[in-house]
Amino acid sequence: MTAKLIDGKAAALALRERVAGEVARFREATGRVPGLAVVLVGEHPPSAAYVRSKVKATREAGMKSFEHRLPASVGQDQIAALIDELNADPAVDGILVQLPLPPQVDERVIITRISPDKDVDGFHPVNAGRLAIGLPGFVPCTPLGCLMLLKQELGELSGLDAIVVGRSNIVGKPMALLLLQANCTVTVAHSRTRDLPGAVRRSDIVVAAVGRPELIRGHWLKPGATVIDVGQERVEQPDGTRKLLGDVAFDEAVEVAGAITPVPGGVGPMTIACLIRNTFVSAARRERFAYDKDL
Ligand code: NAP
Repeated sequence: MTAKLIDGKAAALALRERVAGEVARFREATGRVPGLAVVLVGEHPPSAAYVRSKVKATREAGMKSFEHRLPASVGQDQIAALIDELNADPAVDGILVQLPLPPQVDERVIITRISPDKDVDGFHPVNAGRLAIGLPGFVPCTPLGCLMLLKQELGELSGLDAIVVGRSNIVGKPMALLLLQANCTVTVAHSRTRDLPGAVRRSDIVVAAVGRPELIRGHWLKPGATVIDVGQERVEQPDGTRKLLGDVAFDEAVEVAGAITPVPGGVGPMTIACLIRNTFVSAARRERFAYDKDL
């Protein structure tokens, strides 16, 4: 058996095009352009690359991007002051502070400073709480993108057994809550889980968000399972090149799963598309603009 590949690139492109269409309608109706402010602290190359992709995608959707670059030596109070300005700026609908921040800065203080209504990353405790109790808010982009891929692949998720491997605040926990909301029976596994292969084996849906390349083996999977691989780690190969690997041993899993996301080209592109979506939704909510609720 060879699993169907879930094409995250194509799904992300389709979502970005739908958002761009909604942005055009919004601009026409309100005379305003949605805006995303991105704060990058220091020169961390992967962070700079993520920010470039986010800025590009924002502009391609017809929205404004405001970039704020601060030196790695910046103090917490200066970042907080910038966030206060962005919170008050009517042209800014979404605020994203690229993580990680330098060690002198407490990430929790900075995330909590962002207005929950502009928190398009969905990391603010208010948005985490809204998700937990089923109120509308902002859902973190990576798990939101995973849920969209699962719904596209499976349609109705109700009643399915799902496992989320990993319990971080930005991926694992919100993913588990989204699956619960979709009426799955959810297991959350982590580094202390006693029998991970056994738990994976019982699951119709496997979402892997661990950061340990190829931890999840093909023979652990239930035949026909749908596998979403969030992991992306650069691993040096014997020939000295570096390869991006997921948390699932892809070559093995593809023989057992029903459908699987590749790495790269699976979850990654959906994360950016969902950021664009959340930014537009923020602008629409702020202007009370009726938008396509299926976005
Ligand atoms: P994280 O904060 O490091 O969390 C990792 C989780 O995995 C923790 O809950 C940890 O358990 C668990 N874990 C570690 N070793 C394990 C093991 N042997 N068995 C079972 N669980 C284990 O990582 P993250 O931020 O969620 O990211 C996870 C991966 O997703 C990384 O590769 C990251 O690069 C990738 N990622 C991709 C995107 C994207 O857009 N594609 C976005 C975000 C993250 P404990 O809680 O017990 O320590």
